[in-house]
Amino acid sequence: MEELRSLTRAAGYEIVGSLEQVRRHPHPRYSIGSGKATELAEIASASSAEKVVFGNELKAVQVYNLAKITGVEVIDRFQLILEIFARRASRREAKLQIELARLQYELAHAREKVRLARIGEQPGFLGLGKYEVDVYHEAVRRQVHSIQGKLKRIKKTRELHRQRRRESGFSLVSLAGYTNSGKSTLFNTLTQEKVPADPDLFTTLSTTTRAVDLFRENVLLTDTVGFVDKLPLTLIEAFRSTLEETIFSDLILLVVDVSEPLDEIDRKLLCCLETIQEIGATGIPVITVLNKIDLISTEHLDQTVQHLKAHMSNMIPVSALYKTNMNLLKEEMVRPLTRRIQSSFTLPISTESLSLVSWVFDHAAVHKVAYDKEELSISFGAPPDLTDKISDRVKSLGGTLVYGEAQSLDS
Ligand code: GDP
Ligand code: MG
Repeated sequence: MEELRSLTRAAGYEIVGSLEQVRRHPHPRYSIGSGKATELAEIASASSAEKVVFGNELKAVQVYNLAKITGVEVIDRFQLILEIFARRASRREAKLQIELARLQYELAHAREKVRLARIGEQPGFLGLGKYEVDVYHEAVRRQVHSIQGKLKRIKKTRELHRQRRRESGFSLVSLAGYTNSGKSTLFNTLTQEKVPADPDLFTTLSTTTRAVDLFRENVLLTDTVGFVDKLPLTLIEAFRSTLEETIFSDLILLVVDVSEPLDEIDRKLLCCLETIQEIGATGIPVITVLNKIDLISTEHLDQTVQHLKAHMSNMIPVSALYKTNMNLLKEEMVRPLTRRIQSSFTLPISTESLSLVSWVFDHAAVHKVAYDKEELSISFGAPPDLTDKISDRVKSLGGTLVYGEAQSLDS
C-alpha cells in the first residue's frame, strides 16, 4: 500500500482516500467484493475523487464495472506505472517504448473486448460492435509493428555506439537497484554531473551515461531505470533496451537502501536479483552498494551486513548523498575492471616477509612461490593499484618488486 501511494504521488496525484481488501480469489465482477465496491463508490463520491487506482491488475470487464459503480475513471497498477513513465519520458526512444507498452496493453484488453462482444455479454461494449472491434484490433496491431521497427533501428545505432566505446578501451559499469535506492544520487556523486534526482519514483527513465575518473581507468557509468516488484512482463520487454546497458556491462553496482526494515531490504533485493536473472545479466561481477548509511546507526548497519552476508558478497557501505566511502567504493570497482599486472619479488625470510606473502595470497593471483635457506620468491598477477601497494611494502622490507615473471630459485 505504501508503495502504491508513493507511485500514485509520483504520477502527480493527490491521495484523498484509500480502501483495502485482500482476496485470495479476485471477484470476477469488481475484483473486490461487491460490498466493498459499494463502499469504494461512497468514499469516491464523499471525497470528490476524480480517479480510482487499484494496486492489482484489472480485467477490462472489471474496469468497466468499477467505472460504472464509482462514476469515475478506474486504472490499475500497470496503467499507473505507464503514466509515470510517460510523465518522465524525454528521449524519443523512451517515448516510443511507452507507446508500445500502452498499445500492447490495449491489444491484450482488446482481445477481451472481442470475446465479450462475441458472447454478447457486453453488447456494444464501449460503443463498439464485433466488426469495429476487429478493425480496431488490426489498427493497433499495425501501430505496434511500426513502432517495433523504429525501435529496432534505434537499438542498432546504440549497439554501434557501445561497440565503439568498448573498442576505445572503456569499461562499462552500470547501476542497478530498486527504484528510490539512490542510484541517480550515486551516479551524480561518482560523475560529478547533474541529472535530476528527487524523492519521486522513476526519476531516471532514459539511460544516462557519463565518464568516471577511476584511477586513470577509462570507465563509463550508466544510470538505469529502477526495478519494481511485479513489473508486468510486457513492460519489462518494453524497457529491455534500457536494461540492455546492464546486460552488456563489465560490472554492476547493485544499490540497496539499507535505511529500510530488513524484510523490505530482502523483498527489494530479491526483486533486483530476479530481474538481473530475467534479463540475462548473470555472470557479471556485482558490487552490492549499501546506501544511505547516514540514516542508520553503526549497530544497525552491522546487523544488516550480517544478515545479507548469507546471499551477497562484496558489500560496500556508503552514503551517496554525503559522499561517504566513495574512495572505498572506487577501489572496489577498479579491481574487477583492470587488467592484472604480472610481477614478482624476492625477500629475506622473516616474520614480516612471510606475512606479506600470505597477504598476497589472499589478494592476488599467485603463480609461483619458492623458498631457499634465506630467501623467498613469489610471482603473482594483481591490478595496478594493488601492485603499487605491494611494491611499497616490499621496498620497506628492503627488496624490490620486478615486473614480469620471477626467475625460479633453486630449491
Ligand atoms: P533512484 O530512484 O535509485 O535513482 O534514487 P535517487 O537517487 O533519486 O534517490 C532517491 C531519494 O533518496 C532521494 O530523495 C535522495 O536524496 C535520497 N538519497 C539517495 N542517497 C541517499 C543517501 O545516501 N542518504 C540519504 N539520507 N538519502 C539519500
Ligand atoms: Mg534514478
